[in-house]
Amino acid sequence: MNLEHIKNEISNCRKCSLWKTRTNTVPGNGNLDADILFIGEAPGRNEDLKGKPFVGKAGKVFDELLESINLSRDDVFIANILKCRPPNNRNPLEGEIKACTSYLNRQIDVIKPKIIVPMGSFASNYILEKYGLNKDKISKIHGTKFEINTLSGKVIIIPIFHPAVVTYNINKIEDMKKDFKEISKYI
Ligand code: URA
Ligand code: SF4
Repeated sequence: MNLEHIKNEISNCRKCSLWKTRTNTVPGNGNLDADILFIGEAPGRNEDLKGKPFVGKAGKVFDELLESINLSRDDVFIANILKCRPPNNRNPLEGEIKACTSYLNRQIDVIKPKIIVPMGSFASNYILEKYGLNKDKISKIHGTKFEINTLSGKVIIIPIFHPAVVTYNINKIEDMKKDFKEISKYI
C-alpha cells in the first residue's frame, strides 16, 4: 500500500454522493516522509478545480502560518477529512465523513506522522475520537497538546482553528500564530 495507490482509489471513488458534483478529487499533497500532517475539512471551490488542498484564500493564510515557523509545503503533508467538495462548501455530513475517512486513516498509516494537526472542528472531532480522546470545542482546545501511543510510536496531536477563520476575522491570525509556535516546539 502506498499513497499513489490510495490516490488512484480516491480518484475513482463513489462511496458517497459527492462524486456527482466534484470536478476533481483532492486526496492531499506534500512530503511523503513528513513528520507533520495537517488535516483540513474538505476542498473548496479552488481546490476542486485544481485537485490540490488549500490553494485558495485559506491556503494563503495557511502558507503564512507555515512560514511563521520556517516551514514550507515541502516539509509537511496536507490532507482533508473529505476528498471531494461539498456543494456550496456546506458542512460535511456524518455519512460522508464515515465513508471518506477510511482514506485518511490509510494515509495516516502510510505517512506515520509524529505530529497531527487537525484544523477546525470537523477534523479536530474526528481525530480526537479516532484516538480515544475527549472531544471539546475547538475554541477551547486549540493549541492544546495531546499525546498518544500508537503501534508506530508516540504521536502528538495539536488541534488548531481552521485557517479560513482568519478570512472572516483577521484578529484570529494572532491566536493561530501562537498555536503554530506551540506546534514548532515539537518539530
Ligand atoms: N479548506 C479546507 O478545509 N481544505 C482545503 O483544502 C481548502 C479549504
Ligand atoms: Fe469518495 Fe470521499 Fe469523494 Fe465521498 S468524498 S466520493 S467518500 S472520495
